[in-house]
Amino acid sequence: MFFEPSIERHKNPERKGQIEVICGSMFSGKTEELIRRLNRAKIARQKVEIFKPSVDKRYHEEDVVSHNETSIRSTPVNFADDILLLSGDCDVVGIDEVQFFDEQIVSVAQKLANKGKRVILAGLDMDFEGMPFEPMPKLMAIAEYVTKVHAICMKCGDLAAFSFRLSDSKQKVMLGEKDAYEARCRKCFYEDKK
Ligand SMILES: [Zn+2]
Repeated sequence: MFFEPSIERHKNPERKGQIEVICGSMFSGKTEELIRRLNRAKIARQKVEIFKPSVDKRYHEEDVVSHNETSIRSTPVNFADDILLLSGDCDVVGIDEVQFFDEQIVSVAQKLANKGKRVILAGLDMDFEGMPFEPMPKLMAIAEYVTKVHAICMKCGDLAAFSFRLSDSKQKVMLGEKDAYEARCRKCFYEDKK
């Protein structure tokens, strides 16, 4: 369980920002964890803004929607740089599906945190081949806190860190994921990998 930084720290005009990364495979509850932290920040009366890449059009245009339908209002943006312009005077910036952003997201996260904002980024850490999904590795390196959440292997019931693609497509970004992927543990992922 992740414990938030002291609220007092964020009331201080000289507050320090920070970067938090929530990573994991598909179906691991990344978005639920992002929403949990953002809702708690709202309860603390902090100003929260949420963004997601406009490529993610699986569900509703303006909501960050997780697989279990918990949702929160968000702004779809085309480029990482747009977040700098749109985040204004908020205290906390949440960004979902970070792996779909361009490389600029790394400097954007740095700039926001250096301005004193708490930046929470959620995304897939590995692609369907089990390789690091840029720009997540860089964000994990510059973050103060990294939380890896796990799904349950749909083959054996163990903890799962991999996203197994059921179809033969080699396309990296393939949406409409619910039917196309399974969460898998290491053993079950590499046993069936094509
Ligand atoms: Zn397994």
